[in-house]
Amino acid sequence: MTYREAAGRIAGLLREAGIENETAESMFLMEFACGADRGFYLLHQMDEMPGEQWEKYRDAAAKRCRRIPLQHLTGEQEFMGLPFLVNEHVLIPRQDTEILAEEAIKILKDDCGSGKKVLDLCTGSGCIAVSLKTFCPETEVTACDISPEALAVAGRNAEYNHVEVEFLESDLFSGISGHFQMIVSNPPYIPSSVIPELMPEVRDHEPVRALDGGADGLYFYRKIIEECGDYLMSGGWLLFEIGYDQGAAVSEYMREHQFKDIEVIRDLAGLDRVVKGRRE
Ligand code: GLN
Repeated sequence: MTYREAAGRIAGLLREAGIENETAESMFLMEFACGADRGFYLLHQMDEMPGEQWEKYRDAAAKRCRRIPLQHLTGEQEFMGLPFLVNEHVLIPRQDTEILAEEAIKILKDDCGSGKKVLDLCTGSGCIAVSLKTFCPETEVTACDISPEALAVAGRNAEYNHVEVEFLESDLFSGISGHFQMIVSNPPYIPSSVIPELMPEVRDHEPVRALDGGADGLYFYRKIIEECGDYLMSGGWLLFEIGYDQGAAVSEYMREHQFKDIEVIRDLAGLDRVVKGRRE
């Protein structure tokens, strides 16, 4: 069987399993399983694929057909141009979350003065915390999560990207002390009733505790807004990633809690994605 025939067969299996973009995915899997990247493929597509490569390719595709995310096979996902290790204990970094990281970086560079301290709540893989420290090295970054397994991944990601971040096991603010110029969070925000409708990759393979935001999806925003007063300095910024339909509710709750300069920022798809505001 040639590389091209192999790619065609795998694309067929992926399509039958309900996976979109089967052609692109068959190429990613070939690169991952056989080390044959696009350049190699273009030159050698009519060559015979060695038997042991086909076995590896087919095994990887079988996992993907069980809707295991590609990133769980490769163990990595890029975020903000940086490499992040992932496993089943953390949410795979999403491109949408780069909007939050970029907005936080902009504020840290323009507006926070020196001696900046930032807290990242629900850090998961650590993608936000590690990005902030990478792009704003003078900032002191603390990041927490309720899950020790997630913190193990986040710690490895800080090392992997050669930055120092303080990681703490903490249920929101329960284990936090000190004051911060900025608090950022991408908390779980999917309404519980929507979880069963998520794509199988997300629903069956990503940690539900990183997704489930309670009955209306807003549980963590309310808790953080109510409790941040002791930790966020006066004039300090609070930034959240939000679901596409949560901008009005989260802004309103921040307004009721004396936040000012509240703004909802859209993602590249034109959907509300980030809310920011500063403490009086
Ligand atoms: N955006 C993620 C998703 O759609 C959810 C992230 C979260 O709950 N913080 O799967």
